[in-house]
Amino acid sequence: MALEKWEKRLAWFRRHTEELGALFFPTVRVAHPLALQSPLCPSCGKEGVKNPRVCPNCQQHGPWAFLWARAPYRAQGVVWEAIHRLSHRGESFWLPRLADWLEEGFRLFAAFFPWDALVPVPLHPVRRRELGFNPCLELARMLGMRQRIPVLNCLYTVRAGSSQKTLTAPERAMDHDCAFRVKRGFDLQAQSLLIITDVLVTGLTAQGCARALQQGGAERIAVLAVGRAE
Ligand SMILES: [Zn+2]
Repeated sequence: MALEKWEKRLAWFRRHTEELGALFFPTVRVAHPLALQSPLCPSCGKEGVKNPRVCPNCQQHGPWAFLWARAPYRAQGVVWEAIHRLSHRGESFWLPRLADWLEEGFRLFAAFFPWDALVPVPLHPVRRRELGFNPCLELARMLGMRQRIPVLNCLYTVRAGSSQKTLTAPERAMDHDCAFRVKRGFDLQAQSLLIITDVLVTGLTAQGCARALQQGGAERIAVLAVGRAE
């Protein structure tokens, strides 16, 4: 509770210092995230697509194990910078800002539904050791605390993602299918789960997670990211 209060104070302070900075130093532009423009593909959230049957991304990588995937912002500019610095450099002070953007996405796309839990995309243990934390888990925790939704850190990876670069598209899809598993002791029967990730590209990572959750008994699965790449 105290953490929530401090987080709100920090967000207020950050917002106002940016506004003051822009007032006194008008040449310094405050970087704002770029919102995705509708229409969005109803399935994968890609910009400029009304129907998933004609969406090139859904054509290539679907059908999906999740109902929909959405992100509020393009993974460009300040959004990309923040994701990159958090997830690749381990700069955890980007977390509150990314959580703000994630929460905006939640209000836009997911707040209408009573989710049983948020499920972060897991990070390979080697990468987690290098970084010191899993960015998606921390984002899920912040969103869960603000929206009062439990977080289920119930997935784990069974292989590193680095092999992906050398694979063809169908091989990558297969690889993602077997890259995630549900940890022992988690009962997901009939659960409504929202997968939380930092960035959506093709949706294949989310697809791998959704397949694992589906096999674990989850009934309704969707995906929320902070940013969406082209
Ligand atoms: Zn699509």
